[in-house]
Amino acid sequence: MRLANYINGKWVPVTTSDVLPVINPATAEVLAEVPLSGEADVARAVEAAAAAFPEWRRTPAEERIQYLFKLKSLFEAHLDELARLITMENGKTLAESRGELRRAIENIEVACGIPTLMQGYNLEDAARGIDEHMIRQPLGVVAAITPFNFPVMVPFWFLPYAIACGNTFLLKPSEKVPLSIVRAFELIEQTGLPPGVVNLVHGTKMAVDALLDHPDVRAISFVGSTPVAKYIYARAAAQGKRVQCQGGAKNHVVVLPDADLEMATRSISESAFGCAGQRCLAVSVAVTVGEAHRAFREAIADIARSIRVGYGLDEGVQMGPVITRESKARIEALIAKGVSEGATLLLDGRGAKIPNYEHGNFLTPTLLENVSPGSEVWQTEIFGPVLSLVRAETVDEAIAILSRHSYGNMASIFTSSGAAARKFRYEVPAGNIGINVGVAAPMAFFPFSGWKESFFGVVHGQGRDAIEFYTEKKVIVERWLGEWTRTF
Ligand code: NAD
Repeated sequence: MRLANYINGKWVPVTTSDVLPVINPATAEVLAEVPLSGEADVARAVEAAAAAFPEWRRTPAEERIQYLFKLKSLFEAHLDELARLITMENGKTLAESRGELRRAIENIEVACGIPTLMQGYNLEDAARGIDEHMIRQPLGVVAAITPFNFPVMVPFWFLPYAIACGNTFLLKPSEKVPLSIVRAFELIEQTGLPPGVVNLVHGTKMAVDALLDHPDVRAISFVGSTPVAKYIYARAAAQGKRVQCQGGAKNHVVVLPDADLEMATRSISESAFGCAGQRCLAVSVAVTVGEAHRAFREAIADIARSIRVGYGLDEGVQMGPVITRESKARIEALIAKGVSEGATLLLDGRGAKIPNYEHGNFLTPTLLENVSPGSEVWQTEIFGPVLSLVRAETVDEAIAILSRHSYGNMASIFTSSGAAARKFRYEVPAGNIGINVGVAAPMAFFPFSGWKESFFGVVHGQGRDAIEFYTEKKVIVERWLGEWTRTF
């Protein structure tokens, strides 16, 4: 089955003949062919979005959100069907796919608050006889480019807010996982949303470059790896576009001796090995302070060893495969690199063979001990089920280690000390902070933050930041001379 683009309310074939296979990472089965759009396909989608904009912008906010209410109901009704598609193309477990969809739905719900969220502000008599108002207006055509690890949730960090604010929208999803988002767009179609308000264009770099260079695209949102984030940020900004780019991560967790060890171990294991470590908020380095080390080391090894790895559609499976054969090879090479740099393997997940799924991209949970801060394996985003263990003697030393890292997506601490937690929150240079939380994922009504090499831009996705990103402020300064004397 060859997928089609969704442009101007219709499923249309791509004009190029280039395709890539969509492969189930657990079974190696080819699920579909994804076409790689070229400049002409992107231009056609932008044209449709630009043509739909004037009427959509004029549609009252209250009417615009009715489509989102309908979409929420459709997502709820089709949740299991969508979850199965995510599991088949991405590999995560069904429970993880359902969790992802809940997060997507939360963003639809928050965007339904646009009639309130999009309001500006005003002041009468800002100067003598002069009133001043700030109103928010949509930008026009906006676009998002999204990664493989959350095929539906990440596009929904952007789409609901963009269209609720009155913009028209274009999505270039990950070519590795296009099936669930295609189904999501079929559900959007069922809401009766006017043609051209949302558009879907499949592809890779060629499609992205066409979007970045198109003069009618006003804003770009990107989520993916840091090298691509930097490239997109620079190229889109050079064209005068508004840009927000979320990049990679290397998240540290600090475990203090006074932490609730049982809770800390469970949360850290879920964070490091959930979604096979392919979450941008996955904990990748655990820094144990002082005597926390021995007990944590044993507890995390026990729990990691017990994780059932397999095909996410099968009952009882707790961790699925990684996305591609290349990813698996890259992760295994990084584990070997860590060992060559002096780390020791407390648990080696390489060469995992899962009965009945011998062709899948499986690793089992891996623990690397004595990882040296500054080494290549410490510096590199592994994006797989690998947790590095690092020892520190004090909280200050632990904070100093993680502060040296070039990424700043998330950092967490496990402790029962309010003072230690406050110090951590206050000093740590990361955008999302967890306190006794393993995956500090901001809910839809808060911005999904990220600092340093994990984010390029000013305002983030989700919450009030999304309204800031998707609207232009206009300020009106108003004076009316004379007294009101006319009578009718
Ligand atoms: P990726 O950077 O390879 O791809 C992301 C998107 O960019 C895809 O749509 C892809 O088609 C496109 N793309 C890839 N190479 C390109 C190029 N050279 N030019 C133009 N476009 C290109 O990322 P991925 O492997 O799909 O996703 C994993 C990465 O995403 C990880 O680094 C992860 O940390 C990051 N991520 C970050 C967040 C966050 O919130 N910060 C969230 C999810 C994922």
